[in-house]
Amino acid sequence: MDRAVFLDRDGVINAAIYNPVEGKLDSPYKLEDFRPLPGAAQAIRRINGLGFLAVVASNQPGVAKGKCDPAFLQAFDQRLHWELARQGAYLDAIYYCLHHPQAQVESLRIACDCRKPEPGLLLRAARELNIDLARSYMVGDSPTDVAAGLAAGCHTILLSDADDPPVNGQRPHFVAVDLAAAVRVIAEGRR
Ligand SMILES: [Mg+2]
Ligand SMILES: [Zn+2]
Repeated sequence: MDRAVFLDRDGVINAAIYNPVEGKLDSPYKLEDFRPLPGAAQAIRRINGLGFLAVVASNQPGVAKGKCDPAFLQAFDQRLHWELARQGAYLDAIYYCLHHPQAQVESLRIACDCRKPEPGLLLRAARELNIDLARSYMVGDSPTDVAAGLAAGCHTILLSDADDPPVNGQRPHFVAVDLAAAVRVIAEGRR
């Protein structure tokens, strides 16, 4: 079985974008808002070199909420793959939860088992890619990422630059300042 590093996308690989309507950070919904975070591509290249699968596991309810269309998500993925390839890194797979319980798009309006904090994306990836979850890591910048990783039985790394980040009762195994720092933890074999 393979080991994986599961990666949240926004705030881990690329910057989250401030949404002035909602007054909070959100996914990018325009290609020009794709901003890879400093050091992220090199960190993924290191994950590749360590022999872990690099697997994105991300909630993307933008289509469900009418903020973007499915073609945009595909174009974004292409851009992401291209940017990583340019720096010698690659993703083995991308898993998105497209659902939202209050979706405008009726077909996506379900209480699914894959929207983090549920572990469905990780469990599906584990089945499809033959991943040993107990020897894998989930890296994310939100307590919901940690919750999904814990529920799937993975080691978890919360990205935060706070000394005592809010964890909503879901304590991560490690806190790291960015993806590069998280990969150092993984490379050291800490668990
Ligand atoms: Mg995030
Ligand atoms: Zn879902």
